[in-house]
Order: sequence, then C-alpha cells, then structure tokens
Amino acid sequence: MKNQIVENVKPCCIFSYADAPTAIKHFEYEVLENFGKIVRNEDGTIKHYTYIWDRGGRSAVRCKKCGAVFLYQWTEFDGYYLGKSDEYYESYFLVKDLDEAILLNNNYNGFKLEMEFKGLKIWTIDDVWHWNKEDTK
Ligand SMILES: [Zn+2]
Repeated sequence: MKNQIVENVKPCCIFSYADAPTAIKHFEYEVLENFGKIVRNEDGTIKHYTYIWDRGGRSAVRCKKCGAVFLYQWTEFDGYYLGKSDEYYESYFLVKDLDEAILLNNNYNGFKLEMEFKGLKIWTIDDVWHWNKEDTK
C-alpha cells in the first residue's frame, strides 16, 4: 500500500503561536466525527485499535477559527500495576480534510499512526504540550 501519511497540508492557525503550550490554549475545535476505539473489518472482526495503551480512542476535529482538520488520538496508560501513576497522552495530527482523517483511521492503528505520521502534529504527555514545529520565540 502506498504511504498515505499526510505531508504539506496548510497549517492550522494554532501553529502561528510562539510555542505548543500557548497554541493549545487558543485551540477551539468542534468534533466532526467520533471514530471510537476499534476499527473493524467488513466481516465485523477487529482490524485494529485506535489507541496505544490501556484505553483510548479517536475522532476527527475541526478548528473553529480556520477550519483546519485534525485526527485526534488519545490514550491512557494504567501505571497502577507497575507502581506508577497513570499517564495520559493526546495527539492532534493535522490532515487535509475529513476524508484524509477517515483514511488514516482505517489504515493505521494507534501505534503505527504515532510512529509514521509525517505531517504537523501537537501532542501532550501528562499535560506538557509539544509540537514538531520549531518554536518561534
Ligand atoms: Zn486553526
């Protein structure tokens, strides 16, 4: 299959802020479609999960200010059994449109999307926000 990971999409307005923590404070979005936690094959069997750790899910969201579309993925790690605290991860992957979000959702499981996505993204690990764009400040 051809690599469908998105590149060269017009950036969302949030990427014009100085850094990721500031950008996320200004990010207002609406949910276009909820993809849930499982992608199924046509026969109903499980194709893949849309998250990495113990629970999670995905949706397509749209920036209220500029209309940019993201594939949003979240996952939670249960640290209890390892004597650690739970960890919460969220990622917003910038895509071209809703169709692109649907395509990625159908073709990439949670781990593969995190590893192979080449476009702009903004993500948090335990409330610290990062992005793969150079900070401008
Ligand atoms: Zn925007």
